[in-house]
Amino acid sequence: MNVKRVYNFSAGPAVLPEEVLKEAAEEMLSYERSGMSVMEISHRTPLFQEIIDEAEQDLRDLMHIPDNYKVLFVQGGGHMQFAMVPMNLMKNGKADYIITGLWSKKACQEASLYGDAAAVASGEADHFTTIPDVNQISFHKDADYVYLCLNNTIYGTLFHELPETGDIPLVADISSCFLSEPLDVSRFGLLWGGVQKNVGPAGMAIVIIREDLIRDDVFPATPTMLKYATYARSGSLYNTPPVYSIYICGKVFKWLKHNGGLSEMKRINEAKAKLLYDYLDQSTLFRPTAAVKDRSLMNVTFVTGDANLDTQFVREAEEKGLVNLKGHRSVGGMRASLYNAMPYEGVKALVSFMKEFEENHLEAESI
Ligand SMILES: *Cc1c(COP(=O)(O)O)cnc(C)c1O
Repeated sequence: MNVKRVYNFSAGPAVLPEEVLKEAAEEMLSYERSGMSVMEISHRTPLFQEIIDEAEQDLRDLMHIPDNYKVLFVQGGGHMQFAMVPMNLMKNGKADYIITGLWSKKACQEASLYGDAAAVASGEADHFTTIPDVNQISFHKDADYVYLCLNNTIYGTLFHELPETGDIPLVADISSCFLSEPLDVSRFGLLWGGVQKNVGPAGMAIVIIREDLIRDDVFPATPTMLKYATYARSGSLYNTPPVYSIYICGKVFKWLKHNGGLSEMKRINEAKAKLLYDYLDQSTLFRPTAAVKDRSLMNVTFVTGDANLDTQFVREAEEKGLVNLKGHRSVGGMRASLYNAMPYEGVKALVSFMKEFEENHLEAESI
């Protein structure tokens, strides 16, 4: 089969490793000589149990997840976690939110349906181009948790330092930096990530939760399927789980292990981001939008300052096989997402096209 692949800079659903897609294609008609696709086998079979067990173990190995944390595979994606976190964790009905973009703002709004969700800091005055100084934030002593979004997909910012919250559990949305570099899990009470950014197919989130935070006395009338305890007690098999998503995530975990794990991912991701930021920093046409100290490794945002020129750039890039460079609809401009599966070569091709576009533009201006 001769297929032309493009360099896909989408923020999500996003690029997956080609090796993983090929393997899945090979196994499509018959998984492990079963004569059936993974989508066709019961989730109550040893064949599927092995898939989910290995996926969990490989994730534990990659992230060095301590034994007192559970790994949960939860259908529903990111927005459902905006609700599950407060429903399950707001014991006293209070939580502190650090607002660094649309996703933490929406999470805070959703939490206010269940209790008192306080926005204790916000980068909105700077149009979310910076992360507030975490050492300047004071938290409520009786907050049940402090919530933040570690990497801000839309604005291209990342927390390079975590707030000290003492005994208050720190909760983080890691959707767009999931497995992009090593992370100290023990610093958090709960981590969750929608897998469609850097891990697998859309429709599922992975939750990593410290055992003492899994409670039965959750918000009244919380549906069974929205209790973390339901997933923890059943090994994420209370009802039919998203089997194919778990299977592909498992393959991505193996791909990451084969490719040197998270320290190696960090090294490559830093090299990719540096290539693009270095070019942007000296460009006379393009301007990076995130504050230098808060830059994301995964989502690089930039503009020309002229919305029509931005549109022209995105269109011409697309013709060159560099696709999905349009910024989020709420901010405009451009965004290049450089997830694990984006090869260094892809970023090189992007930078080389940007140089060409810049030269052509400057020439046209001088005529
Ligand atoms: C995409 C994204 C979300 C929303 O995920 P859905 O699965 O579409 O609900 C939440 N948080 C972050 C950081 C994201 O990048």
